[in-house]
Amino acid sequence: MTGRDDDIPALELVRATKRYRVSQGLFRPAAELTALKELSLVLRKGETLGLVGESGCGKSTAVNAMLGLLPLDGGSVRLGGRDIAAMGLAERVRRVQVVFQDPYSSLNPARRVRDLVAQPLRLHRRGTDPGPEVAEMLERVGFPARLAEAYPAELSGGQRQRVAIARALVMRPEVLICDEPTSALDVSVQAQVINLLLELRRELGLSMVFVSHNLAVVEHLADRVAVMYLGEKVEEAPVDALFRAPRHPYSRALLGATLPPDPAAGLPALGLGATAADPLAAGPGCAFAPRCPLAAEACRAAPVPLAAQGAEHLARCLRAEAA
Ligand code: ADP
Ligand code: MG
Repeated sequence: MTGRDDDIPALELVRATKRYRVSQGLFRPAAELTALKELSLVLRKGETLGLVGESGCGKSTAVNAMLGLLPLDGGSVRLGGRDIAAMGLAERVRRVQVVFQDPYSSLNPARRVRDLVAQPLRLHRRGTDPGPEVAEMLERVGFPARLAEAYPAELSGGQRQRVAIARALVMRPEVLICDEPTSALDVSVQAQVINLLLELRRELGLSMVFVSHNLAVVEHLADRVAVMYLGEKVEEAPVDALFRAPRHPYSRALLGATLPPDPAAGLPALGLGATAADPLAAGPGCAFAPRCPLAAEACRAAPVPLAAQGAEHLARCLRAEAA
């Protein structure tokens, strides 16, 4: 591989915008909800990008865009430097695969494990016997061979997620997207699945997007982290910088919510209170201003641009210094 090839990102969102029309009840006109607002992300070859934010901030919408499953209202998705909209299904499937939160709803309950893992090979690479590859992949993900003829309902949550991972990787994709892959699992099993993903990433040379509302999980896996709020990227940094010196008040609040309270860590308490993000209440300024304890007049007046905070560190906050 040449140096030039290495410079091409594995995957890119370029100012991706997605709007949904949502009903507000019988007597009010439908409103427009912006689920992605000019979201730009770069996944470099071989890295893991963490994508974090509260429920409803647009993480899964971003994932569906990355998979080429979502018609965008603006912007584009590029896989290996090429627009995903111009790719056929077979190429997309070969390049990018996904593991979802709940393997029980993503795995057909009427099919046996061996079949579930063989299916992508049968659909996209007809003619060869998928048996050996399926067996090898099941072994790689630590799935017991004696259960290869079982149905999903007969498996534990962790075993089901291993099957979902094997199914995603059997096509040997370049990019693996994990959308909250451990959120439905018991805590003890979560760690096993995370360690498995770390191992597979190394062995298979995967580029990975890891989506989670749990920053502690992302810290363990990610090289860089992007923090989303109501469809926008509000902060992006190498994982160490984000955890050591988060600049956006929202990132600080997320960290406070997942780290054990430790005054010695120097993170100020910055509770978000009881209010929730309201995607329909956006003013002209910073979307986080209504919940932000540091918000000033200027924050509410006009859109806030992403600004450099340090090496590879961006934050969308006028009060980043004060934060
Ligand atoms: P997350 O994965 O971070 O929880 P989502 O991407 O699922 O967030 O959702 C982002 C926003 O878009 C939410 O407000 C959600 O209600 C809305 N949304 C997602 N899908 C649809 C849809 N098909 N129609 C209308 N609104 C949607
Ligand atoms: Mg989601």
